[in-house]
Formats: sequence, C-alpha cells, structure tokens
Amino acid sequence: MELICDVHNGKQDLNFYRTSIPVPTDIHRLQVGPSDELMSALEKFSLDPDPTIKQAFLANTVINPNVGEHKGVKYASWSPLGCDSIGRCLLAYLTLDNRLTVHSSHRHLSWNTLTNLTEKYSKRLRERGYAKKDDKPPEANLLDFSELQRRFQMQTPLRMEWSSIYTIKKVLADNSCVEEQMVLLAVLMENGDLVLWKFMLPFAKGDDVVFYDLIESGVSRPSDLAWWEYENGGQRMGGLIVGSEAGPIKIMPVSLSKVKGYFTIRHPIILWKECDEIPVENLRCFPLFHPIQKSSCSLIVASRGCYLFWCLLTISAKGLSVHNSHITGLHSLPLVSLVVTQHPVEVYTCSIDGWIKKLVPTFTENSLVFKVEDLFQPEALTHKWIHGMAVSHNGAYVALVTTQGIVDGFHPVTRNHQVHFLALKSPETAISFLLKSPEQNLYNLADLLDLVRWQVFKTKRIPAWLQDELDRKIQEADSPYWWRIKLFVARVVRLSLQPPRTEINWKPKRTETKVFLQDEEMDEADVGTDNDAAQWTEGESDLEKQEARRTEAQKLIDAAETHLMRENMKKVLGVVYLNTWMPENFCIPTCGLMDYLSRDPGDKDSEVLIGHIRKKLNKQTFPEHCSLCQATLPFTDYKQAVCENGHVWLRCVLSYQACQTLTFRRCLLQDCIARLPEPEDPDWIKKLMKAPCVLCDSPMI
Ligand SMILES: [Zn+2]
Ligand SMILES: [Zn+2]
Repeated sequence: MELICDVHNGKQDLNFYRTSIPVPTDIHRLQVGPSDELMSALEKFSLDPDPTIKQAFLANTVINPNVGEHKGVKYASWSPLGCDSIGRCLLAYLTLDNRLTVHSSHRHLSWNTLTNLTEKYSKRLRERGYAKKDDKPPEANLLDFSELQRRFQMQTPLRMEWSSIYTIKKVLADNSCVEEQMVLLAVLMENGDLVLWKFMLPFAKGDDVVFYDLIESGVSRPSDLAWWEYENGGQRMGGLIVGSEAGPIKIMPVSLSKVKGYFTIRHPIILWKECDEIPVENLRCFPLFHPIQKSSCSLIVASRGCYLFWCLLTISAKGLSVHNSHITGLHSLPLVSLVVTQHPVEVYTCSIDGWIKKLVPTFTENSLVFKVEDLFQPEALTHKWIHGMAVSHNGAYVALVTTQGIVDGFHPVTRNHQVHFLALKSPETAISFLLKSPEQNLYNLADLLDLVRWQVFKTKRIPAWLQDELDRKIQEADSPYWWRIKLFVARVVRLSLQPPRTEINWKPKRTETKVFLQDEEMDEADVGTDNDAAQWTEGESDLEKQEARRTEAQKLIDAAETHLMRENMKKVLGVVYLNTWMPENFCIPTCGLMDYLSRDPGDKDSEVLIGHIRKKLNKQTFPEHCSLCQATLPFTDYKQAVCENGHVWLRCVLSYQACQTLTFRRCLLQDCIARLPEPEDPDWIKKLMKAPCVLCDSPMI
C-alpha cells in the first residue's frame, strides 16, 4: 500500500493506492542435483524401512513433491526509500514455494519483477557442486538422506532483510575514484546460512545484483534475522543478528571492506545462549542515544513467547558491553507482532487476543527500564483478534490486521480480515517533526504530512504559529522545502473551503482503483464535514467570508508556486552554465527562461547569473517550434506553451521544454509533468531529468 497525500482529494480520509503482486501459479522445485539421482532418492526414501527417515521424508513439504505445494506468501521486506530508479522502495518477496524475487513499482499500481534470487543462487550452487563455504565437494550423494536434506536446506529461504544504503568508492580504469551507492539483502536459509546479495543503486535491472558473501552462522533451526548497524561519529560497525527456534540469539560479523569507516567485529557476539525452546521472533534492532554515556548505542528487541527480550549494546573505550533481560507479564498469550518507531523511540507489542502495549525505554545509570502502558484502542478494535501490525515510515500510523473474535462463546463461522489504521502521533507533533526533519523531503515524510493534511482540512485554516514558524525559517535560510510545506498546506486550505458540489458529477470516473480506508476517528470527522456542508447554505455573508479566504489561499499558492519555479529555473540555468563548453544544440529553452526570470526586477541573483550565461552563449538562442505548424513557441508561462495558431503544449517542470510527445511522466500528486528522458540526452540533462517534482518532492512516474 502506498499512502498518497492527495492535494486533489476533497475528503479528510486517508488515501491509499492498493496493489498486489500475484503469486506465480506454475510449479516450482528447488534443484539439488542430477534428476535421475534425485528420482531414485525420492523413491528410496518414500519406501524406507527405517520409520524415522520415512516419516521425516513424507512430512517434509520442501523435499517430498507429493505433499502438494502451498501457494501464498511466506515473507516480504521493503528496502530503504530511494533504491529504485525513481526513488521509491524495492520489495523482496518470498513465496511459500520458496521463490525469492525482487520487485519495483515503476508506475501507478503496476509492478515489475526485477530479479529472481532463488534461481541465481540455485545456479551458483549447481556450479559449485553443492559444496559448503570451504569449497570441499560433498562426500555423499543424494541417496544419503542427510545429504539430500542438507542440499534442500542450504537454499530454502526463511527470511530476508535489507541493510541501509552504503556509499562505496569505486576505482575506474583511469585510476579516478567515483562514489557509488549500494544496498545489501541478507537471506537467512533453513540451515542457518546467510546469503548476501549486493544491489548497485539505483537498481533497475537484474544484472545489477551480484552475490556478495556467504556467512555460515551455524545456528540450528533459525527463525528470524535483523541487521545490526551501529554508527558513532565517523565510526561504523555492523553484523547480522540471527535468532533461533530453540532460543539462542547471536550477531554474526559482516565484512564491508569498501565502506568508509566501517569496522567489523572479529567474533560472533552471543546475545542469549540458553536453549530454552522459546522461539525468537520479530527481531528488531535500532539505534538509541545514551544520555549518560553521551554516545550512541543499539537496542535489540525480540518476542519470545509471551515475553519481550531486549538487549542493549554499548561500545565505549572499554570495549563492547551487552546487557540483556526479558520483560514478563506483558501479555497472557504469545506476542504475534512487534513494531518500533523512532523519534521518539517506542516499542509496540500485540498478542492475538487484541491487547496492544506501548513500551518506552528510559535510561538509568547503568541499565535500561521500560515504561509500559496499554495503547488506547477504539471500539472498532475491541473483541477482535490481531494477526499482525506494521508501522508507517515515520511512525505516524500503525496498521493492524484483525478478524472477528469469539462471539457469545462461539467462534464465528466465517472470518473476514480487516486492516485498521491508528494514528500514533498528534497533528501538532507531526508538524514539529516536519519542521525539524533533516531530510527536508516531503515525499519521504508523507505519513506525517498526511496527519497535517487531516488537521488543516478539519480546521480549514493554517495554524497561525505554523505560518509564523515557516516565515521565520524562510527568513533564516530560504530552502525550497519550507515553500513546499507552505504550498501544501495552502492547497489543503483551498480544497477544504471549496463549496460542496450540488450538481451531478458528469465527469467520467478515473480508471485507477482507489480505496479509501478509514478508522473510527475519521468516521466521526467525516460526519463533521457533512454538518459543515449544511452550514454553507446559512448566510450570504458567511459565503463571502469563505470566498475571501479561498482567494487568500489561492494567492498563497500562486506565490509559493512562482517562488519554487523561479528558484528551480535558476538551478536549471546554473546547470546549463556549467555544462555548455561548446556551442551545442540542447533542448532547454535557455533564452526563454532568462527572459522570464528577468521580468522580476528585484531578483539580483538571477541578474548576475543571466549576465554570465548571455556572455557565454554568445548570441545563440534556443527557440522552440510547434511540431504541428512549425511556428515559434514563446516562453510566457512555465506551465504551458501556446503557439500563434493556438496549439497548446504542457511544459516539463524539470527542463522547461514544451512536451510535444504523447507520453510524459507525472508526479505522484499529479501537479506537474516531465518529459521522458531521451537516449541522446547528454549526461547532465539526464541527471536533471532524474529530479523529483519541484512542487511536491514526489517522484515522476
Ligand atoms: Zn502550432
Ligand atoms: Zn508534484
């Protein structure tokens, strides 16, 4: 599901685009060796006189082909934001028949399979004769049951997790260095092996993924996996945390030699060693700031039955220290799910009987305590069973999957699965996070922004303190980010002040399937807007007031849009200036842009820039022609170009060129368009065309 902060949606509800990736229907079998050898092995074990072997074989859904394959999804994992070619996430997707694939969503509501990692790994194992990491060829063949089991287990994925994005240095043929970005996907196999895949970013096609490393963790019956990523000053450390069905948890060293400032641990670190047969699930690891030691540390949490396991890792001059403990008495049934939000750090746990607890870690002199409280649950969630939960990127919302619980002592005949959304932050908190965010990217903060949208839509005004704060920030440092927030809230105000439509909506419906999901709180708010609709008819003077405020909002929007566009034009012209060594023909309407910018006499920066460019371009002009009538297209507006015969073309917001093709890209919020990059574009134009939307930060798709 992708949350869209839709500036055209006249409702207060959350707005989601919901899509799915189909589970493949063809039969999939893992390759373990020559097929004739496998056939005779399968025949042998199905009739094995030893009941322990025969039973183990017959009950194994991976090895025994006659059990029947299960169709469905075992696990899915989102990469960090910004890994695909347009700045969105990649999705690693593992099916119940053990196919691990990586997908990206390249347009609205459609998915591409980029690579099949199960196939790649299977090929690698076949080439190496199913040897272990030490490369010694296996002594036994498939007719030995433990060997058959080993070959299946070494390639049956259980879980996979993405690392964060790393910058590495690459030395080119001419000895110059370039910086590249990569992300690692760690795959935990049934035998405890960790297979690491390296994805070069932005990841667009299957060839850009390579096998990176194999780590034999030696954990028997592994159950879950998480990255440990520690950073303090310029120093970085990391590893992979593996938990097991039997209870133990440990961190395995991962070597990232090309990452600057990266150290690896020399030996595995044991976090919990007792085999108490309480399985480790929902492993999470996140950084914390230690207010007493004044350094960063890592907190690892996991569910173990009804208990919550936690472990604090601190690194000081004395070395690495491990504190661990369990929190008991949280739930009376095993924990089904556990999520963590950052800023502030909060841990949420839930059990199937519908209880959700919130835990806030607090440091003491030499340890950590958790403040536990029940999470407020709206009525819609009482007497429901909870099957899992997930938290949005910046912790604004939590999503819960529920079904009907027991009614009057009976289980219901049918169960419907529902997804509920709960806001974890107040709109005021969301605004203060937006103002403090070091990322300064509205698209990456979409979930927080949506809470702000909700609030502004309800009150139909921009909070005065937000307006003041934004003006102050703009005075301090004029960043486009502040203007984008300004533009966004002004657009929401304008939308909220629109009189309700009374005439029949004659417009054809959009083809996209939009699904509106709402929680109880939103429902009540919705009733509120209906009441407001009634108020509209109350008095002429009220209507006039609303109209005046709408005009005011419109003025704000125009001012913010023009400012953002002018700033971007200057940026584009700056790039043009740096990249035009030779008089070459390129597509950016440079003279049109300069004329447009110089219409505002107060802008000293652009005057200087334009002076430089004019000198360099030496009287060249870059006129655009209408492709229908060959007339010159004047640059009078950044949104569109109109020729003298009345042909209208939309302008690309990244290059300001008139888009005279049938296909172009639109940003997610659909307020701007951009042309498609052409193969003959020089590199610097290609780079310009990769930028997100100037007005809303969302990717161009
Ligand atoms: Zn024309
Ligand atoms: Zn946009």
